[in-house]
Amino acid sequence: MSGRGNNTPRVIDRRSFLKTTGAGLLGSSLLSTSQSLSFTFDEAWAATEGIGETVVPTFCGLCGPGCACGVYAFVKNGRFTKVAGMKEAPINQGGLCAKGNAAPQWVYSPDRLKYPLKKVGKKGEGRFKKISWDEALHIIADTLKQQKEKYGPETLAILSPARRSYSDYLYRFLIAHGSPNYGHSGICAMQRAFSFCYTLGMWPSPEQDKSDLIIYWGSQPIYSGPPMANARSLIKAKERGAKIIAIKPSIEPDSGMADIWVPVRPGTDAALGLGMLHVIVNEDLIDKGFVNKWCYGYDKLKDHVQKYPPKWAEKITGVPSQQIQDVARIYATTKRASINLGNGVEHTPSSNDAIRSVAILMAITGHLDTPGGNLLGGAPSKMPRLNSVHLRERYTQEWVDKLVAPEFPRAFQPFMEGTSSAYYRIFDSVITKKPYAIRAVIAPGTQPVVSTRGSKRVIEALKKLDFYVVADVTRTADMDYADIVIPLATPYETDHPFEASEMGGNWMMARNKVIEPLGDYKSMYEFILDLGVKMGYGADFWNGSMKECMDYQLAPAKMTIDDLRKHPTGIEFPMGTKEYGNYGFCFKMKSPRLSSAPFLPQGKVAIYNTSFEEAGYSPLPEWKEPPESLTGTPELTKKYPLILSDYHTSNVYTASWQRNVPYLRQIHPYPVLHIHPETASERGIENDDWIIVESPHGWMKVKAEIYPGIRPDTVMILHGWWQGCKELGFKDYPLLDGGANVNIMYSVDPNKAFDPLVTAMSSQTLVQVRKA
Ligand code: SF4
Repeated sequence: MSGRGNNTPRVIDRRSFLKTTGAGLLGSSLLSTSQSLSFTFDEAWAATEGIGETVVPTFCGLCGPGCACGVYAFVKNGRFTKVAGMKEAPINQGGLCAKGNAAPQWVYSPDRLKYPLKKVGKKGEGRFKKISWDEALHIIADTLKQQKEKYGPETLAILSPARRSYSDYLYRFLIAHGSPNYGHSGICAMQRAFSFCYTLGMWPSPEQDKSDLIIYWGSQPIYSGPPMANARSLIKAKERGAKIIAIKPSIEPDSGMADIWVPVRPGTDAALGLGMLHVIVNEDLIDKGFVNKWCYGYDKLKDHVQKYPPKWAEKITGVPSQQIQDVARIYATTKRASINLGNGVEHTPSSNDAIRSVAILMAITGHLDTPGGNLLGGAPSKMPRLNSVHLRERYTQEWVDKLVAPEFPRAFQPFMEGTSSAYYRIFDSVITKKPYAIRAVIAPGTQPVVSTRGSKRVIEALKKLDFYVVADVTRTADMDYADIVIPLATPYETDHPFEASEMGGNWMMARNKVIEPLGDYKSMYEFILDLGVKMGYGADFWNGSMKECMDYQLAPAKMTIDDLRKHPTGIEFPMGTKEYGNYGFCFKMKSPRLSSAPFLPQGKVAIYNTSFEEAGYSPLPEWKEPPESLTGTPELTKKYPLILSDYHTSNVYTASWQRNVPYLRQIHPYPVLHIHPETASERGIENDDWIIVESPHGWMKVKAEIYPGIRPDTVMILHGWWQGCKELGFKDYPLLDGGANVNIMYSVDPNKAFDPLVTAMSSQTLVQVRKA
């Protein structure tokens, strides 16, 4: 690719932008909820009268499966013009975030990939020629067949950093092909799912609507999670007087509404959790009845936490000992108290320890499955359980043994989504050839150069990889290294799949096509089905029929996709009544391992975890320093005195996508580093200055945002920056040194950068900052 570098873009005046969009995209999904268009079905049609528009009810779903906001998409003269939130949709109830509102610009972006492409130059040159779909499928299928025969099917990996609506289709392809190597990023959700399930039997969701105290810990409820549901719930809680505590290194909109901000250093949540456990155990602030009946190993915990007094935790976390004690006491003594634990605790070598500490806090204080606490399962759903496209029933032990780099130890594979290898370590195997070399990678909707730590090593691997397929809607950061590029349709150019969501409501809805595809597009689902057929796995892929595939999934609901489509705003299923305290059932939940053994061998909360102990891991949560930190590597602090970490979620961008969308880029135009006023002033840095951020592993050139709501010893930036915006004149940033890709800044030392149990990768390092 060419034209990377900082530049002088045409930034439209913010006020005129807001005026022209009319949507009031004020940089916050919270605000846009109330300011974007919002209609019922009848209102949407009424709005089209006399102006030559038509309306198509569909759903957005840019956030992932289950997070689908219902929308009305408007079309004039065959052009998709705007969206409005669907009032009937239980998840968003008419609200839309900035990303949802910007959908037409995303669809019509000049960055769209229009045709299948084949590499004509060397890897990295980014020279391609246009080919047909048949030729593209043919090349991919031929290569995979040859590699399967020569090196074994397991040398194919498919990447999927987070759960997507097409994840099970990717699994189906891998299983039909014979590879267990589904690549998870090690940075999102699965770390919490794993540690919670093996401690509590399931992921405990906060019942915020009834909580008198809500602790947002490493979470960002305004910009992330089930769309709008968290933001709505936070506002309602605040209005009814609930106390809110935010635990995170910098103030975001949720902590702006908090009564107490606990400014923890990035990556030190386990130390904070252990310090809080010390207080609660030693002051006997526990629910004795629950602990005696439903917890295993409390006595061992009592001895174990003596190593972690609040004074010890203060040194590591930077949170005053007194505040650690106060928060522990408030949580333990508030009857209706919940913890909303977020993705922020998942990027550190002690990620599992942090999550287990929090799980144990919930359990021993009696806040599990009680009103206003953290629930083990919600109200029973009357929505039929649909057929999955996964082929999980074909797993064998031999299959698990073949994993190239297990995301979770083999003893715990498969986990929820299936068998999985760690995303970054898939690339590492290309270089080290250990335990064997991955030969082909398919990257659907993911950009490994900016999506995982260690971008420099990922590029090294991409140069060595035998065969690389990119499948995406727009050009990607790593496309220059692709052998074949597959152009995908946006959700507005297809009529599948359908949504079945239990997040924020029991709702099922068919996707409807809004406009004809603008290029030679297929959807991700069609691509996988077609490739399956081309590979000779047609019987497993409904011989390429999406309709038959969807009918198969819907069969338990006794309907077809055509039946579902007759309900333009979807079908909402009633919910039963939540019964609290269902511990006997929850603590016997079976795990997805081949043995189906329960998550909790004793049928009790695993405070002392014998499953982990048997597999060679610590039975109790411990503390592990990030690879570089103020307390772990003090020798580095002379040259690099500040902690750097990154934000996972923003109000306008999904991960490393969408910087090319003008509406969104107007709201968040530059990569900005949040820096405390004192820290900036010591360095002569002013707001909006271009600055150099340097770590032991790389350097970035970004803008400074003077930000009083951040720890003075910490700086933070949103991850995922690389893409320019043609309409506004922003060029791409360099992918490596001198750009704004924070993933180059961290250690990928295999002995330090990973959580040994849940392979979470560290996003903490030490840096120096100066004016550019
Ligand atoms: S929250 Fe935004 S991006 Fe996500 S589904 Fe809703 S409108 Fe789309």
